[in-house]
Amino acid sequence: MIEVENLTVTYPGATRPALKAASLRLAAGECLLMTGPTGCGKSTLLNCLNGLLLNESGAQVEGEVKLAGQSLRNCPLAEIATLAGTVRQDPATQLCTATVATEVMFGLENLGVPLEESEIRRTEALNQVGLGDLRERATSELSGGQQQRLLIACALALRPRVLLLDEPLSQLDPQGAAEIVAVLDQIRRQG
Ligand code: ADP
Repeated sequence: MIEVENLTVTYPGATRPALKAASLRLAAGECLLMTGPTGCGKSTLLNCLNGLLLNESGAQVEGEVKLAGQSLRNCPLAEIATLAGTVRQDPATQLCTATVATEVMFGLENLGVPLEESEIRRTEALNQVGLGDLRERATSELSGGQQQRLLIACALALRPRVLLLDEPLSQLDPQGAAEIVAVLDQIRRQG
């Protein structure tokens, strides 16, 4: 599902690569936790797996990244959005609409998914993360853990093949973090 081959990334002006000759293979259903000190290249790898650094970012990227057999080099963004869903660490800065319901619709509308299909996907995604009863809730009134789960629902609604999370627990209290871990475990079990 994920194939990374000899990936080396050098940011503009940098004297040495942020990531050097990284290789990685993950099959469908596998879950990988990457740990390491700040600055070791975790976000850089993640931003290659979602295509961000591979396409006109200014960074020099050597090597290959494939998701579900598709090379991400020169891959249109709309296509990458259906391959990889990304959730970053600070939920509040990633939310861009007023309510839970509209937030999930935002990405679906951007991808041109028909309304009827979008509504089905929204219900499914919100149920998956345990927010089915909070559809009309203002995003600003959600707890950090609920906001993070909403962002996971937004990603899932696009039906990506791979879900990428950059330090998804770092801004959460222990209860919020436990909820995210439970949701991720359930998603993994459901395949
Ligand atoms: P981590 O996620 O493990 O903390 P990063 O991938 O963010 O590590 O960073 C790896 C290295 O690349 C660090 O030395 C960092 O300073 C550098 N770096 C990260 N992003 C950029 C960028 N946009 N421009 C220049 N250097 C960067």
